[in-house]
Amino acid sequence: MPIYSHSRISAYESCPLKYRYRYIDKIRTGKETIEPFLGLRVHETLEKLYRDVKSGLVPSLPDLLSHLSTIWDRRWHSGVRIVRPGRTAEDYRRIGRACVETYYKKFVPFDQDRTIGLEHRILIHLDSAGDFKLQGYIDRLAVTPEGVIEIHDYKTSESLPTQTAIDSDRQLALYQMGVQDGELEVHRVRLVWHYLRHGETLTSEREPKVLADLRRRTLAQAHEIEGATDFPPRETRLCAWCEYLEICPVWKGRPPPTVSRGRI
Ligand code: SF4
Repeated sequence: MPIYSHSRISAYESCPLKYRYRYIDKIRTGKETIEPFLGLRVHETLEKLYRDVKSGLVPSLPDLLSHLSTIWDRRWHSGVRIVRPGRTAEDYRRIGRACVETYYKKFVPFDQDRTIGLEHRILIHLDSAGDFKLQGYIDRLAVTPEGVIEIHDYKTSESLPTQTAIDSDRQLALYQMGVQDGELEVHRVRLVWHYLRHGETLTSEREPKVLADLRRRTLAQAHEIEGATDFPPRETRLCAWCEYLEICPVWKGRPPPTVSRGRI
């Protein structure tokens, strides 16, 4: 039985064919779009920041931006695709720098809480038999001076969700289940999203009954995916960002989907 993750379930929801290519056929194209590339580099930079802080050293902002630049260049490869017309890699690099700079200036000297985990792995048993498991990695797990456990997540997306959307977000609620299933002594958990492009921090909390319901629904989804025999394509404008665009039957003999220059 595979170990599920939030991104695995999301892939099935967004397009069953993409799910099949990625998780069943395990097709690796060597391609990625620049948005997740940007997100990963910013995550790695903030991880380095808190590793330094944990060891008693607050890096300077120029040092941190230099680190971002170094890993950006080191990890850059010919398979990174820029989907939006007229945009360049430098545009995205600038966004990454702005994300790190905004976050740094907002939270320096980073003493609001104590970091207890970085890229902290959680494992949830969705059913009592232990057949269905789900894992995830928390960007930063922290404890506040009041003893509240905080699950921090960094977002580099262009859009800023509403509080209503945040209050029903699945990913961090699953992570909360994982934290509560683990060995930490937990009295209260706060979910914290950092929308880095906007300099906004959004928070939410979940009642036990909400989490119990989420566990049931997630288990039902895992059962559905395990039982699936048909993986139909789901054509949307997001196909432009799909790494399987070139092999997808939906787009065979057709020009790729049109994308506006838009904001990046
Ligand atoms: S291109 Fe679109 S329809 Fe085809 S696999 Fe990707 S997301 Fe699905």
